Amino acid sequence: MLEEKTVPLTVLTASYGAATDVGRVREHNEDSFLAQSPVFLVADGMGGHLAGEIASQQALSTFSDLVGRDFVTPDELSRRLEQAAVSVHALGQGDSAPGTTLSGLVLSTQNERPCVRVVNIGDSRTYHFASGTFSQVTRDHSEVQELVDAGWMTAEEARFSGRRNVITRALGAGIGADAAADIFLLPAHAGDRFVICSDGLSGEVPPALIEMVARCTADPQAAAEELVNRALTAGGRDNVTVIVVDIDTATPAWESVEVDDTTIPGKSSTAALAEEAAQADTIPRSGKDETHE
Ligand code: MN
Repeated sequence: MLEEKTVPLTVLTASYGAATDVGRVREHNEDSFLAQSPVFLVADGMGGHLAGEIASQQALSTFSDLVGRDFVTPDELSRRLEQAAVSVHALGQGDSAPGTTLSGLVLSTQNERPCVRVVNIGDSRTYHFASGTFSQVTRDHSEVQELVDAGWMTAEEARFSGRRNVITRALGAGIGADAAADIFLLPAHAGDRFVICSDGLSGEVPPALIEMVARCTADPQAAAEELVNRALTAGGRDNVTVIVVDIDTATPAWESVEVDDTTIPGKSSTAALAEEAAQADTIPRSGKDETHE
């Protein structure tokens, strides 16, 4: 009878690589990244003259104490996001307040099943490559994304728009101390690959080419470096940062019946609540949209 009630032991391991480059035009690299299991995040700072660099590093430092753990709980993730918003906001207020985007994932569990929790605020991105399908998990918080959603612009036009750098949500940047990040829950499967990047990649390299490199370069470090090189070849007009995360082990497996509206690829209730709050206009905003560089 002993074998009837075995507690499933959740195991989730990943291998990964990361690369960053100042690009061909800018003098400072205001991007930062944290890529140490179970935390994989890219932050694209704004504010200029070192302020952006400090903002992106400040946001990531909030998560550094989670490094070395097996998993990050939803509560721990929410708390770090709140702390990051407060600490970046504290760097300065006003029209030229420092700020940063944040995108990426943490390894986590849901009902003792392995999962990743993808976070996003701003226009850095997290892509998911699984079962032969490549998709963008995150949705940019940007003016051009809103125009795309409204049907007034194609995604390709958005990539070349002169207003592509105008973001509508960020940590800091005068947006307030309680800016809300989206959180997406995805069941983890061995063989899944995630590509996390700043807009220095997604602004220079079309999604089909990002997919091609992600598909063809097996080693995650080589894939991250190749993607950065593609952005530099395409012009390198912005700082570019890429993390590639490969899920190696994910047990116990998810039963298909467990995958429903609350999991892949929907938003968690936290994000839904945040969105309601945003629509109710309870999030303090600065007088104008923030242009980030
Ligand atoms: Mn950028």
